[in-house]
Amino acid sequence: MPTAMEIYKLLPKKNCGECKFPTCLAFAMQLANLKVALEACPYVSPEAKAALEESGAPPVRLVTFGAGESAAKTGDETQLFRHDKTFYHPTVLGLVLDCAQGLDKVRAGLDDVKGLVFERVGQQVRVDAVAVKQSVASADVFAEAAEAACSQALPVVLMSEDAKAMAGAAAKCKSRPLLYKATPANIDAMVEVAKSSGCPLVIGGAPNLDELGHLAEKAKKAGVQDIVLEPAASTAAELLQNMTTIRRAAIRKKHRPLGYPTIAVLGRSQSDQLRGALGVMKYSSIVLMDDLPREFVYPLMALRQNIFTDPQVPIQVKPGLYTVGEPTEKSPVMFTTNFSLTYFTVRADIEKSKMPAWLLVVDTEGQSVMTAFAAGKLTPESVAKAIETEKVKEKSKRNEIVIPGMVSRMSGKLNELTEMKVTVGSRESSGIPKMMRTLSQ
Ligand code: SF4
Repeated sequence: MPTAMEIYKLLPKKNCGECKFPTCLAFAMQLANLKVALEACPYVSPEAKAALEESGAPPVRLVTFGAGESAAKTGDETQLFRHDKTFYHPTVLGLVLDCAQGLDKVRAGLDDVKGLVFERVGQQVRVDAVAVKQSVASADVFAEAAEAACSQALPVVLMSEDAKAMAGAAAKCKSRPLLYKATPANIDAMVEVAKSSGCPLVIGGAPNLDELGHLAEKAKKAGVQDIVLEPAASTAAELLQNMTTIRRAAIRKKHRPLGYPTIAVLGRSQSDQLRGALGVMKYSSIVLMDDLPREFVYPLMALRQNIFTDPQVPIQVKPGLYTVGEPTEKSPVMFTTNFSLTYFTVRADIEKSKMPAWLLVVDTEGQSVMTAFAAGKLTPESVAKAIETEKVKEKSKRNEIVIPGMVSRMSGKLNELTEMKVTVGSRESSGIPKMMRTLSQ
């Protein structure tokens, strides 16, 4: 976003007050803070309007494909390094289904992709797009496969360099697929397909980044705004170099011709696996995988989760009363905080004891036991309230709660507030299995 002075220079400077601010400078300051819309001034020239919209646009354009809640959002990033702030849109991971294998295989592949989901630290991690490649299949088969893909929930990438076949396939999709791809050889025809279908367009096949930028500018001038760039990346080193250069040019230099999300398409070799990991780390917005082995896809999904977790916001689990095993009313009740790492560590250690238990997760805004205790977010009062809210005494009739050894100081007050027997457990989570064997059954 431009500064107030940069905006002011483009305003008419009539100081007429029609925008409800006494001067153009006052209006510019409000505009810079996103408190008003430019339309409030009726005298802004079309040139100034275009310049302000351009300078206020994010350095990497937000490009969305797919429809509804499952639509894939790419770009709109503002940082080069995650530790500077955060990254916003996780790399979209998609699997490529080749029409050359036949429609039945494509349909089976669609079901397979939906099954690529697992839970990690309380979050659902999944493959989030599917790509349909024309390959050597006819335009009719490609269009039929596109229709099948677009009728399910995941965002779709249509892969063909034949503009006519692409137009036929795009016409079968209502869910705004990403069109892959325009090259120097077909860009005019592909731009027409993107414009008539309203779909975002991948631009690639350029020998270098300068040429890639020129192609993107050409498509933009012809009326395609939503563009995804595919830089040349025949080796892992080239991928890393080109992706980093694009990101730097967009974010540090605000170089508009390269200010778009990026895509990397992988084959099946080991070097493709390396390129996939590099792409997730730096800085592919979309990675399409050509049926890579699952033992690679799952770690890649975990890597993505790590990279795109906001380092300033702890991962949390939902507060509540959880079961470990199949506890009864004779089973012990323990508590911990809703910091995800703490919860899963404690839970795993209770499981190791092979004894069922109730695990009460207290809301500490995602802080660990000691941090929350020191910050006053984990108190006898907050634990007592959680016991009452979750109706703990109805679930376990032991009238006993086991507390982490690190917060033994709260035992007296907690006993007073809840009238439950308070047992001080182990200081470290790793001591839980041994401690649980000492509890009366
Ligand atoms: Fe300035 Fe426009 Fe506001 Fe008038 S309406 S004071 S010209 S910004």
